[in-house]
Amino acid sequence: MQNEQVTEKGRCFVCNAAVEVKPLNPNEVRPPWFMNSLTCWHCRKAYPPSLIKACRDPFHYCLRVRGIQGIIEFTRARINGDWVTIWDDDNELLIDGHNYPRGFDIHIHEIIGCADAPL
Ligand SMILES: [Zn+2]
Repeated sequence: MQNEQVTEKGRCFVCNAAVEVKPLNPNEVRPPWFMNSLTCWHCRKAYPPSLIKACRDPFHYCLRVRGIQGIIEFTRARINGDWVTIWDDDNELLIDGHNYPRGFDIHIHEIIGCADAPL
């Protein structure tokens, strides 16, 4: 029997595009954006891996936005094209001294950096 590669098929959980993913070699480690789900190549190139993870796996994340002082901490995100909405389900979402309980929309091009599980 030939060594056939089985592909996973499904929908990108960020943009809902149809995706097929070839299995990795046994020694490869899956990057964070896999997270037991499928993400298309467009989304992998367009968005930070930790931000993609925040859409699927609520936890503790932070990001920096151009023009806003300091770090913004959040627990989950939703990406919609060039925009991402972030929420903090554990604490107040404080940005420049204001609280945003209904989330805060950020243009993806204004994000300077994003991280998963900052200490
Ligand atoms: Zn996608």
